[in-house]
Amino acid sequence: MNCLSCKYHFNKQALFIVWNKDQLMFICEECISSNIIDTNTQSNKWKKLVIEKAIREPDHFFSQFELNEKNKIRIQALQKYSFEQFKYLIENTEKHIQEIQCILDRIINDLKLEVVNINENKYNHRKQLEQVQIYQNFRSTLDLVYNSQTQINLEIINQCENNLKQLCHNIESNPIQLNTQLERIFINCNIIKTQEFQHNKQLKDQLYQIQLLIQPFKNKYNCLSSIVSEEFLEELLARIQLNSKKKIIKTNLIFDGKNDRLNATMFWKKVQNKENLLMIFKSNKNYIFGAYSPCKWVYTKNHSYADKTKSSFIFSKTNNTFHPILDKDYKAINCNKTKGPCFGYCENGDIIEYDLSIDEDFQGGCSYLGNNYLWNNDEAQKLNTHLFGQIQPKIINCEIYEITFS
Ligand SMILES: [Zn+2]
Repeated sequence: MNCLSCKYHFNKQALFIVWNKDQLMFICEECISSNIIDTNTQSNKWKKLVIEKAIREPDHFFSQFELNEKNKIRIQALQKYSFEQFKYLIENTEKHIQEIQCILDRIINDLKLEVVNINENKYNHRKQLEQVQIYQNFRSTLDLVYNSQTQINLEIINQCENNLKQLCHNIESNPIQLNTQLERIFINCNIIKTQEFQHNKQLKDQLYQIQLLIQPFKNKYNCLSSIVSEEFLEELLARIQLNSKKKIIKTNLIFDGKNDRLNATMFWKKVQNKENLLMIFKSNKNYIFGAYSPCKWVYTKNHSYADKTKSSFIFSKTNNTFHPILDKDYKAINCNKTKGPCFGYCENGDIIEYDLSIDEDFQGGCSYLGNNYLWNNDEAQKLNTHLFGQIQPKIINCEIYEITFS
């Protein structure tokens, strides 16, 4: 392959192709830091190809152009993990595993030492216990039969039994004396203390390092939705993290419309006494929407709960709108065992207006955004169809994620 010099810096190799609406040029690294391509306005942005990369990886070339959602995901997936990243992962994982092997060897050694120490302690304790007067009496009585020089006869056995009986009864009649003698012995017993298993912590550290290494190759929050894309789910979780000022460490799909029946009984069975729930719904008009609240879902007749953290929100994926709760004292969720999930609650004369409510059968329900959750659209008419694409929700799929913060 020929080496192409930069037109502006003759001793430098042209590494990039840059272009905008008006021009295209080969440039070098120095060009980038100079003002050759400095006239960057929002409407006439420079695009940039790394020549060597574009020759090697067609996806790098295509990624510079306007792609539809489907193609973008495919192209991004190809670009995601470089050869260098994998090499780094394998080399470092190997290093950590070797280190773990050393730590495991040390742990086994520690364990063996510990066992020796424990046995030594036991031996010492028993030696001390032998010195207790009561025990000495017991042993010397036994000696009558076991260490006698004379022939054992029935008389001696009877004698020994009687002595032992007397001894045991004496001990039993005075447990205080027994215990005081034992306590006195234990005071003088030195226990050989072993070190804490310091290697356990090292092992944990190493395993954690490997986890960190693998992390970028896993789905960030380890969850996949069948209703929304991975990217949108991550956007929702990032928003929750930001609003609650806490770090998400785990998400758990506790209700999955693919397997769980869509009704209030199943809903309450899954969410009862759970908090930090993110719910995603799909209506039969294929409108996707949902809500998040940190409030606990209590199985009760009819009670609303406020969200002191003010991190609750309702969203419409279809309309790309977010509706945060208006105030920390406002009603974030409404728990009603005869209904499905309900967010916001407002008594308007005889009519009860929920910002989002789903009935027992997941078909009926209503939405009056703006009562407790933000609605800043003047088109009042669209208000109650905004989320569902119609007046009633008529849910065909639902996912509920339980979020755990660190
Ligand atoms: Zn140059």
